[in-house]
Amino acid sequence: MTGCDFLNLATPGVQRLQPYQPGKPLEELGREYGITEAVKLASNENPLGPSPKALDAVSAQLAELARYPDGNGFALKRALESQHGIAAHRITLGNGSNDVLEMIARAFAGPEQEIVFSEHAFAVYPIVTAAVGARAIVVPAKAYGHDLSAMAEAIGEDTRIVFIANPNNPTGTWLGEAELAAFLDRVPPSVLVVLDEAYYEYAHDPAMGLEDYPDGTRWLDRHPNLVVTRTFSKAHGLAGLRVGYALSHPQVADLLNRVRQPFNVNRLALAAAEAALGDAQHLQRSIMLNVAGLAQLQEGFERLGLAALPTAGNFVCVKVGQGMAVYEALLREGVIVRPVDNYGLPEYLRVSVGTEEENARFLTALAKVLGR
Ligand code: PMP
Repeated sequence: MTGCDFLNLATPGVQRLQPYQPGKPLEELGREYGITEAVKLASNENPLGPSPKALDAVSAQLAELARYPDGNGFALKRALESQHGIAAHRITLGNGSNDVLEMIARAFAGPEQEIVFSEHAFAVYPIVTAAVGARAIVVPAKAYGHDLSAMAEAIGEDTRIVFIANPNNPTGTWLGEAELAAFLDRVPPSVLVVLDEAYYEYAHDPAMGLEDYPDGTRWLDRHPNLVVTRTFSKAHGLAGLRVGYALSHPQVADLLNRVRQPFNVNRLALAAAEAALGDAQHLQRSIMLNVAGLAQLQEGFERLGLAALPTAGNFVCVKVGQGMAVYEALLREGVIVRPVDNYGLPEYLRVSVGTEEENARFLTALAKVLGR
């Protein structure tokens, strides 16, 4: 087909953009390999599924689907307000926390500005940076994690945003309380620090044993330039519905609200998230399953003589040599994990924690593929 070269018509940032690579869906493995009994440990989802209370809340909304949702998410914000002790006018809801990350980039950065983030950090940071045409300042990692001193030094006159994932996906690395507090003290008040706490519920739980893992929300009053993002996709088991949120200074929330799409969080998602917040037992069960699963995987890796990065999330990066080749061999065994060569980690695979059976099936397949 002849016509325009649309690539040249796209904005320079979009021309350079590499699309986000999601985990391979189970359905695709079925289509490509004819495997129907596959295990997916590729997208850091909750293997326990959603809370039954969330499912009931979704069912109750089905008859209302002809109606737009509450565009302000009043009920969910009120529930978050009491959960966090942070006023509703400081909360921004997103269609997943990715939506919120993108709103922040759109509201605060453009072609004249810079956004700072770490090497090996979550892939959405470079994507939203390029999408708004801002310049990405990628700071080399330290021991696979964020080097906060180097990140503070990388902040310049044109820096508007610093993205920090705590813990980071895909490496699982986390930052302790003192380190982050010192960093926040160093950052100029005109630079937004976005603390992405997508895995907070896991990392924070005492059973994970990370004593100095901080709750970023405690710094919101001291540092008005801090934005903390959370999600219902991970420990709350609602990835398929897409709900996340930001906690921030009210003026930042007001600006995000200006760039937000009307009705960005759908009716089912709002109801499910509110119900999930009210099911502390399901959350606790999800966290305990993760703690047990991480131990199971760790033990399995030791048996196979493999080294894994320490992790604060519901996933772990394990060093397998030729990541892509092992990934493909695992697919043929009906196990989907995540290659991380696009994160600059070609020797690693990222594995999400599954149920006990799923983890066992993955470890058996891995042993077979590696011939151990
Ligand atoms: N931040 C991090 C660090 C993540 O790993 C993810 C999910 N992969 C997200 C944000 C976004 O998740 P969601 O849009 O589902 O809330």
